[in-house]
Amino acid sequence: MQSKKHKQRLLDALYKQYLEKPQGIVRLPGSTTIVFGEGNPDANLMLVGEAPGQQEDEQGRPFVGRSGMLLNKVLDVANMPRDEVFITNIVKTRPPNNRKPTAQEIEASLPLLLDQIKIIRPKLICTLGASSLQGLLGRSVQITKERGKALDFMSTKLLPTYHPAYILRNPKELNTLVQDILSASEIINAANIERI
Ligand code: URA
Repeated sequence: MQSKKHKQRLLDALYKQYLEKPQGIVRLPGSTTIVFGEGNPDANLMLVGEAPGQQEDEQGRPFVGRSGMLLNKVLDVANMPRDEVFITNIVKTRPPNNRKPTAQEIEASLPLLLDQIKIIRPKLICTLGASSLQGLLGRSVQITKERGKALDFMSTKLLPTYHPAYILRNPKELNTLVQDILSASEIINAANIERI
C-alpha cells in the first residue's frame, strides 16, 4: 500500500500537471483557476461536490462558502473532521454565475477526478448532489431516489447524498444529510471492506 507521503506527492504532481496543461478543462468567464481539492491524501472518505463557486474560485479551495460551513458541521457531528477526509468536486472550474455544470464540462473534468480516486483509494466516495453522481455513474439520476443507498464503484463503495446547498434551501432535510454521513462512517468502519 502506498504511504500517505507518496500519495501527497502523486496528488501534487497531478495538480501541477493540470495547472501547466489543463487537458480539456476549460476556464470559462468568471473562473480564474482549477480548484483541485484538498484534505488527507490517504483519506477513508472522499467527498465529491458539483463545482466551485465564487469563493472557492477566489481561494482555490473547495467548499469554503456557506455550503462548506454546513458540510464542516455535518462532518464534525459524524466525528470525521474536514482535515481527515478529502474534498473535491466533479467539475474543477467555476461555471459562469454558478450555473449547473454542463455534461461536457463534467466529461472534461472527469479524468482528473478518476486519477484522484486512483491515488487516494478511499474506502468510500460520498457524492454530494446529482451532478457528481451522474458524472461518475455516466447516467442520469434522481438524487431523492438514490441517496442513502451504497453502490459498488471502482473497487470501492459510493454513497450518494444531498448537496449541502440543497439543505440550505430545504433545512428540513438536514437530518437526512446527517444520517447519510453517519452511514458513511459506519460503512468505512465495517470490517469487510478491504482497501483497494
Ligand atoms: N458547491 C460545490 O459543489 N462545491 C464547492 O466547492 C462549493 C460549493
